[in-house]
Amino acid sequence: MAHNRRDFLKRSSVLAGSAVAGSLVSLPAAAAAPLRRRGRARMTLRYRPYTLELRHVFTIATSSRTTTPVVLTEIEYDGVTGYGEASMPPYLGESHASVLDFLSRVDLSKYENPFELDTILRDVDAISTGNAAAKASVDIALHDLLGRLMKQPWYNIWGFDARKTPYTSFTIGIDTQDVVRQKTKEAAEYKVLKVKLGRDTDKMIVETIRSVTNTPITADVNQGWKDRAVALDMLHWLKERNVVMVEQPLPKEQVDDLAWLTERSPLPIIGDEGVQRLADIPKAKGVYHGINIKLMKCTGMREAHKMIVLARSLGMKVMLGCMTETSCAISAASHLSPMVDWADLDGALLISNDVFDGTRVVNGKVTLSDRPGIGVTKLKG
Ligand code: MG
Repeated sequence: MAHNRRDFLKRSSVLAGSAVAGSLVSLPAAAAAPLRRRGRARMTLRYRPYTLELRHVFTIATSSRTTTPVVLTEIEYDGVTGYGEASMPPYLGESHASVLDFLSRVDLSKYENPFELDTILRDVDAISTGNAAAKASVDIALHDLLGRLMKQPWYNIWGFDARKTPYTSFTIGIDTQDVVRQKTKEAAEYKVLKVKLGRDTDKMIVETIRSVTNTPITADVNQGWKDRAVALDMLHWLKERNVVMVEQPLPKEQVDDLAWLTERSPLPIIGDEGVQRLADIPKAKGVYHGINIKLMKCTGMREAHKMIVLARSLGMKVMLGCMTETSCAISAASHLSPMVDWADLDGALLISNDVFDGTRVVNGKVTLSDRPGIGVTKLKG
């Protein structure tokens, strides 16, 4: 009994350690279940490269593509397997080769207790300065493993209400008027649309969508505007057309211009390219109204949770985004979604060769599975 209590207290401190900036995370009853002793069990990390096929050519302000490289990971411990994923859109600087090289340097066999999340993930983070997606693939698989060992989904472990998930936006890429009109009609199920702006077609795209529907729109400029006064005019124009929020209107380096714009903007301004990790948030206060958190930018679920707590404590808005990913990484992120203002978790809907079933989008709403861990089942293939 004394041993079980020690284990419980040790584990409690690990989980409660995710509280930052004075906020506390209460431990649900689920986490109090005694951890059975597992003798000499050790974690084993496995991984393989995979290529996602996109349903449509995907165009943003800076590039177009039809595939996305990912690496699928598994961590096995005492007969239980957790699943993870790294997604590497080319503009982030990671690739199959860089992720496989990083993962070859991760040795999980040296840890006796997989619940020592802070120690394990701190060590993984210290392997290199970049490789955020590679790190996320370890973080997600480890979270999935722990949830499965505790037999609880992460929304329960974190104490979130799974019914309070948001609607996800559905992205309409930069395209011709006919394609935008067609994609808008196909997206009738979604309660929020997201448009990619930042080219000279911006007004055409928004007006084309408005010729089909008045569904609220979030706009992502991907640093595509350059002049703050022109940007401010566009923000007023967008607000009149029921655009509700704008991501990264100016290049992230134009910090003073972004702060000027945020002070005057009629719409919330959210930093995406300009905010990667926890340490970026204090600097982002005043530059943006809020931040877009993505697991592949911030090294995974553990840091994403800390980022939400910190941003909230600073009075900032929170958006939860994604890359094109399988339902593995989307499901991992979705357990945080009851805590955010906007969710953009359509990544798995944009691909034709998913290898997981997990969180789904039902009538536009992020809908969590009640399975343990991140809630995924591996499909054949
Ligand atoms: Mg963005």
